[in-house]
This record gives sequence, C-alpha cells and structure tokens, in this order.
Amino acid sequence: MARKIGSRYTANQILGRGSAGTVWLGEGPEGPVAIKLLREDLASDQELVGRFVQERTALLGLDHPHVVAVRDLVVDGNDLALVMDLVRGTDLRTRLDRERRLAPESAVAIVADVADGLAAAHAAGVVHRDVKPENVLLDMQGPLGPGGSHPALLTDFGVAKLIDSPRRTRATKIIGTPDYLAPEIIEGLPPRAAVDIYALATVLYELLAGFTPFGGGHPGAVLRRHVTETVVPLPGIPDELWQLIVQCLAKAPASRLRASELGARLREQLPLLAGMPPLDVDSPDAESADGDEAYVETAEPSAPAARERRGAVPLVPGAAPDSNRDTHTSMRVPGPDELAGGARGTARAPRAAGAPRPGSARHRASARRRRITLGAAAVALVAAVGVGTWLATSGDDAGATPPDTKNSAPASP
Ligand code: ADP
Repeated sequence: MARKIGSRYTANQILGRGSAGTVWLGEGPEGPVAIKLLREDLASDQELVGRFVQERTALLGLDHPHVVAVRDLVVDGNDLALVMDLVRGTDLRTRLDRERRLAPESAVAIVADVADGLAAAHAAGVVHRDVKPENVLLDMQGPLGPGGSHPALLTDFGVAKLIDSPRRTRATKIIGTPDYLAPEIIEGLPPRAAVDIYALATVLYELLAGFTPFGGGHPGAVLRRHVTETVVPLPGIPDELWQLIVQCLAKAPASRLRASELGARLREQLPLLAGMPPLDVDSPDAESADGDEAYVETAEPSAPAARERRGAVPLVPGAAPDSNRDTHTSMRVPGPDELAGGARGTARAPRAAGAPRPGSARHRASARRRRITLGAAAVALVAAVGVGTWLATSGDDAGATPPDTKNSAPASP
C-alpha cells in the first residue's frame, strides 16, 4: 500500500478522500506528514502544474497556528502532491454531524481560531475562497480551549487556486455546495478577502443552528437566497453575537468585518457564552419528515445522504419574505382555457387579504396537492435562473469565481 512521493516522502495510508484528490498519512525526512495527492486529471494538466510551481512561495509562506501549513510541493512524474503538517483529529464537518449543534462558546472559539488564521492569510495576500466545515481541522492533540474545543486549523489553502482554471471550469461547469458562497461571487465579481468572512459567518451560523442560513434545496435556489434574502434570526442567541453574524453576512462586502477584527470581537464574547447550552432551534427539516413538499430534502439523518441534507431549509421559509418570493411559491397549474389563450390569461392573481401567506401552515395545507405537481417545476425554474445567471457571469472571466465551489481559489484580497 505504501508508495513513494518524490524522493523524500512515502505515503503509507489513506486518511481521506476529497474532491481534489486523496489525503495520505505519510512520512518525510522530519517525521509524519499529511500528503494530498491530487487527482490524475489535475496532475496531468500542464497549465495547473505551471501554476503549482508559481504558487509555491505563497503556499509555503503561510505559517500560523490556525492554518495547516503546506511544507512542500512535489511534482514527480504523474504525481502532484502537497505535503502538509499532519493534524491528528477530525474535521469540523464530522464533529457537526455528530453533535448536530455546538454550544455557542465552543462554536465561537472554533470560528475565532479560523478568523485568526484567515487574518494571517489575508495579510499575506491570500484569499481562501473555500471556507467550510470540511476545511476546518480540529487538532485533538492541542490544548482544550473555551467550551472544551480543541484548536481549529484552516486547511486547503491554495488547493482551490491551483485547480481553478477558467478552461477547466468552463468545460465541466460543476456546482458544488453553494451554501457558503458570498453574493458578490454569484454576481461574478472577483473574490476578495470579504468572501472568506461571509463563508466563515455562514459556518458560525451553521454551528449554532445546525443548518446554514441560505442552504437547502436546489443549488439555484441557494444562490438566489444568498443574493436576495435576509438571514433569519436564531432564537435565544445573544444579541451582540447575532449582530456580528449579521454584519459578516452583509450582502455588501465592504460592510463585513475584517478577519482580525472578527476574531477579536468573537473572543470578547466568549466569557458571556460560558456554560450556555446549544441553541434550541427548530430543525428546518423537522416538517419535511411529515412529507411537506415545500422542503426539498427529506432523507433521515442516518441516511448516507445526511451530508447533502444538512442545511436544508424550506424553499419558502415563513419569515422575512423577500419581495419576489410569491413569484415562485404561488405558481399554479394554468387551466385549459388559459393554456388555450383564454381571456383570464396566465398571470398570477395577487394574494387576497386574509388569504394564507405563502409558507404558513394554512397555506401549506391548502396548497399541498398543488405543490406536489408544481414543486419540481418551481425548483427547476429557480435553478434555471440561478444557474443560468452564474454560467453567464462565469464564462471567460478569469477573475470570476467558477461554478465549482470545491475548486474555488485564493486570490488577492
Ligand atoms: P475536501 O476536498 O473535502 O476538503 P480533503 O481532500 O482536504 O477534503 O481531505 C480529505 C480528508 O483528509 C478529510 O477527512 C480530512 O480530515 C483529512 N485531512 C486533510 N488534510 C489533513 C491534514 N493536514 N492532516 C490530517 N488529516 C487531513
């Protein structure tokens, strides 16, 4: 099973598989390391190999207690590998899957660590662009901090940029998890440091709530929510903490805090959060279990699809409706006369006073049968608009983020 990576490293055992390749437990001249061996199709891409070498200095230069250090880059025959510090522990996604929600003190301590790591990266001119729980490693050998949390380290710096190529993303047009994408990326603007802040605030919300603020359902619907919807408050969350989240989820990048400030402000909150239990937040998929079709994902938590299911929120949450929500929640089947071009036309009638609000329990009950037929059509419509917009904006613009969240890249802040 062991294999040589370049002249200095041996990969002994697979630690895990990611979108860009496989991570191995390896051995180097200075002891154990983690080796990320990039996928074959990436390793055989000459443009990528060129960038790999170009990025060497920036990648190797990031040294911070809350960043997983890249120690070496290996280009050897068909192998392309990043040699990293080995973190003995687990990733934050695994912890979140296990605990569903974290106590606020613990969540804030972890996110403050990541904010500190980001601050160092941003100061060095590197934007991560793929901040999410999968890329946060918890070092179980590190000292226990506030809330009993182990130190958190942000990983996968640079990988995203290496595999980000306008040529590749045009060819594949893959859409990964869009839950953490800042609105400006969706609108095709070049990603600056503030996109990492937005993603990190999304992670904090998710750690507290058990779901992401705008996730759930078709990627197109998620993208639309990032751009148009306001975040729904979490019951029982201390106001100051909530204000921080809201500020960092601002649609305008300039309104968000900088990473260093976010880290400091979060740490200020820690004493106030000591001993507070996880928030008692209604699971957005609780209703889906009874078959409400307004929720796109209905799998049981134990199902293998649990990862996809996380973050599921109703396509039509009852609170804080945006101005356009009715346009896709109140679609109805046109009658035969309408289809035939009859006098009533196909325009949706405005909601009468006293009629159930879209998303309300009453509305759900009365509209259930109609939505069974139309749920898929509505999702497809939203998806077509969202994805179409994205594809239109991602096209040839090397500065724009491609529609591949796994394969997003660092850039200058
Ligand atoms: P993804 O592409 O989903 O971000 P990765 O390829 O980065 O995943 O990682 C795959 C697995 O390897 C994960 O389970 C992660 O916990 C583990 N891993 C990644 N980097 C390290 C590291 N430096 N030390 C220990 N384990 C790691």
